[in-house]
Amino acid sequence: MVLQGTFAYIDLKALSNNLRAVKKKTGNKNIMAVVKANAYGHGAAEISKHLARNGISYLGVAFTNEALQLRESGVKTPILVFFDRDHIRECFEYGLTPVIFDLNTAKSLSREAVRRKRRIAIHIKVDTGMGRLGFTLDKAPAAIQKIAGMENIKLEGLMSHFSDADLQDKEFADLQFKRFLSLRKELRRNGITFKYFHMANSAAVITMPGAHLNMVRPGIMLYGYGDEDLKPVLSLRSKILMLKKVPAATPISYARTFITKKKSIIATIPAGYADGYNRKLSNRGEVLINGKRAPVIGRVCMDTIMADVTEIHDVSINSEVVLIGSQGKEKITAADIADKTGTIPYEVLTSIGQRVKRIYQY
Ligand SMILES: *Cc1c(COP(=O)(O)O)cnc(C)c1O
Repeated sequence: MVLQGTFAYIDLKALSNNLRAVKKKTGNKNIMAVVKANAYGHGAAEISKHLARNGISYLGVAFTNEALQLRESGVKTPILVFFDRDHIRECFEYGLTPVIFDLNTAKSLSREAVRRKRRIAIHIKVDTGMGRLGFTLDKAPAAIQKIAGMENIKLEGLMSHFSDADLQDKEFADLQFKRFLSLRKELRRNGITFKYFHMANSAAVITMPGAHLNMVRPGIMLYGYGDEDLKPVLSLRSKILMLKKVPAATPISYARTFITKKKSIIATIPAGYADGYNRKLSNRGEVLINGKRAPVIGRVCMDTIMADVTEIHDVSINSEVVLIGSQGKEKITAADIADKTGTIPYEVLTSIGQRVKRIYQY
């Protein structure tokens, strides 16, 4: 079958490069690679297997069903589930580690562990200022003391999350980190300790070397965003579906928001907002064809966009079109698209549609 349509090419060499960058920054601390949301759109199973072969200690996902999919694809690495509760049975049957932020879930886990004559490892989350999830600091010491006394529970990790590690101004991030350290100290005084302590997301891995503790949780930097020496892993590539020469005054796409000013050559490209090409790129986006930038004209449709290729030589049906990635000397990154659409690279990457086939390049 000829490859038609739009494909996400996943460069595993770039992924290895970015993992090496994490190792270099952290001096070989334990790495929990964050592969939630289908590994930020890159395909969780393939990404996880590649990272596991290259020496990470843990995977992190948002929800239990993401972890189950990884287990079903044969991933054996320990998996921490960040944002779920009450999936007691799955933790035992699939060997998952839950993040605990309430006493009831801890109790249920302990009861089930006793019933199964097993021990279950957990990570406890404390809220040091993110305001999202975790025992609040006033409740944390007593709650953790209680959990430490529960049967068959193994306290494996203590974690928190930065809200601001990406800001230049580190005042609040430093305060969060201090709060975490003083809780750790108080717990230690009471004889409670953990194998892993972790707080650092990508921004903290890159800019807060003092906050790596003994485990880090990078996500976006593995996929190539956040620092210069990182390489984007994903590129989004398509091929021209139709080319036409049109006279001046030809309307293009829904609502005729673009009308040609002169004789033009228009390419139709089979990628639209259902593939993750944001509709805000209507009359604003650019694509690369033959190493040149071509403007996206008219509204982005669900399955197609049109580009003006009048100024580009040697364009033909099936010419490659780069929506994200590089071609010749030109480059369009997820960060460029995020700037144009008022969002962040995370959202651009995780929006890439399910019908876009991921192709892995070793
Ligand atoms: C998503 C997430 C991360 C990774 O964040 P990045 O900014 O992508 O590095 C780390 N920890 C938790 C709890 C997360 O939810």
